[in-house]
Amino acid sequence: MERDIEQILLTPEQIQNRIRELGEILTAEYADKDPVIVGVLKGVVVFYADMVRQIKAPCQMDFMWLSSYSGTDSTGSMIVRQDVTADIRGRHVLILEDIYDTGNSLTYTVEHLKKKEPASLKICTLLDKPERRKPGVTLQADYVGFTIPNAFVVGYGLDYNEKYRNLPFIGILKPEIYEK
Ligand code: 5GP
Ligand code: MG
Repeated sequence: MERDIEQILLTPEQIQNRIRELGEILTAEYADKDPVIVGVLKGVVVFYADMVRQIKAPCQMDFMWLSSYSGTDSTGSMIVRQDVTADIRGRHVLILEDIYDTGNSLTYTVEHLKKKEPASLKICTLLDKPERRKPGVTLQADYVGFTIPNAFVVGYGLDYNEKYRNLPFIGILKPEIYEK
């Protein structure tokens, strides 16, 4: 596991400090809004659990499960494996994402949820890789944990072929791991 990591990009301490900062901002933003916080599975689970505990306001938890990736490459096509279960019409919705990469999945998620006519819809992503954005994707994340360089990262919920999600830090894999 850890021996497959070339470089640690973000330590557990850095991640938790940033989540506390975001928590203060989101607590102020959502204090009287009783938001539905929608996590996009599965990569978000670790961030989600830490993030919601720093939002010191009433909220409802919900999840969506999309699929698009296998390995390090996007197929570009999306399926909703599991939709939100809450009725979000007229509700304030905050999407939590692990990483904003090409923009395929966030664009799809936003379009999908907008059809349900929430009162507001905002995006909080732990990581943003702006260099990877597909041309034409104009969506902006409202809250970003960290802007990172164009590298494939794992850990803290993020996987490579379903491995490494349980690493406590975010790191870059050794190149030979992909070559296997
Ligand atoms: P997008 O649709 O923006 O290209 O990518 C969104 C999804 O691709 C993320 O939610 C994540 O599951 C996956 N992804 C994108 N970049 C990375 C990365 O660097 N590492 C991992 N593990 N997954 C990524
Ligand atoms: Mg994801």
